[in-house]
Amino acid sequence: MSDRIFNFSAGPAVMPMPVLERARDELPNFQGCGMSVMEMSHRSPEFEGILAHAESGLRRNMGIPDDYAILFLQGGASLQFSMAPMNLYLPGQPIDVIHTGAWTEKAIEEIKKVADYRLVASTEAEKFRRLPRPDEIEFNPSASYVHICSNNTIFGTQWRSFPDTGAVPLVADMSSDILSRMVDVSKFGLIFAGAQKNIGPAGVTVVIIRKELAQRTPASVPTMLKYATHLKNNSLYNTPPTFGIYMIALVMDWIEAEGGVVAIEERNEAKAKLLYNAIDRSGFYYGPAEASDRSYMNVNFRVHGDNEELEKKFVREAEAAGLSGLKGHRSVGGLRASIYNAMSLEGVQALTDFMGEFERKYG
Ligand SMILES: *Cc1c(COP(=O)(O)O)cnc(C)c1O
Repeated sequence: MSDRIFNFSAGPAVMPMPVLERARDELPNFQGCGMSVMEMSHRSPEFEGILAHAESGLRRNMGIPDDYAILFLQGGASLQFSMAPMNLYLPGQPIDVIHTGAWTEKAIEEIKKVADYRLVASTEAEKFRRLPRPDEIEFNPSASYVHICSNNTIFGTQWRSFPDTGAVPLVADMSSDILSRMVDVSKFGLIFAGAQKNIGPAGVTVVIIRKELAQRTPASVPTMLKYATHLKNNSLYNTPPTFGIYMIALVMDWIEAEGGVVAIEERNEAKAKLLYNAIDRSGFYYGPAEASDRSYMNVNFRVHGDNEELEKKFVREAEAAGLSGLKGHRSVGGLRASIYNAMSLEGVQALTDFMGEFERKYG
């Protein structure tokens, strides 16, 4: 597969090669059943096996306790911005939100349609270059829940340790760093993630919810938007995104074969350090995010002086050199390398080599 490029896209993003190869091999005839996963009934024993495989893989890899359910839903992480408050808001108990970027902005937009909320901290005034410090956050002990985004895909910041919300459930959008590092699931009430960044293709959203929380929902919430509906029916209330669930199962096997999330985390840290070191060492590039809050998944960087012409040239020449997807999000500009689980150290090395050459040429 020498024609594969290094894909630094923020999402949908690079998938592990062994996963793609296995899916290819199994595509027309899944384990001798005479048809493809995408052709089979979601109520067949074969698919039930796939669903159980994806679920047990997630449970093992993340250490998800038994009192948590794993749901495979549609509508992306974006639908969770609505589902979380529709299900978990307790009237008279505003939701606490920590505002750290574009994805918490979108969450707030949806929360305010169905609930009261309080901004308990925001770093908007600093253009989201850092996360709030613990002493800047004032939680309300009677909040319905606290909403955070664990990794800010667009601004390139990531919570290294999570705020302690006591008895108030912590709800985390982990779309861009789920399974990139060990996380204590028992500290969260709800975790959700669109699959297309770290664990599979677009079209399936993983929801991990403490089971008792799924009972909060008012009766007026539409059936499909109730966590309890999907919990009771094991994600089979209606047709789930079957092929996406199958791909997640394969990614879970790949993570285990790589040595589990502990090994993945070590590699992610090595990749991020290599890239941030290259940025910090040079007088040509700089990273806008505060060093202590830097993301190990989405590395934002710029050319000094924010020279947009040079940045455009960087993206073009990198593309020609087989390094794709390096343009920063349109809302912030600059450059961004998304280095999710499936990006190899070799890929990051190729990028830092290219950065060095580009600097020598134009610096
Ligand atoms: C990509 C992303 C989303 C949006 O996901 P969709 O599946 O496209 O709805 C939400 N939150 C974060 C942190 C993201 O990175």
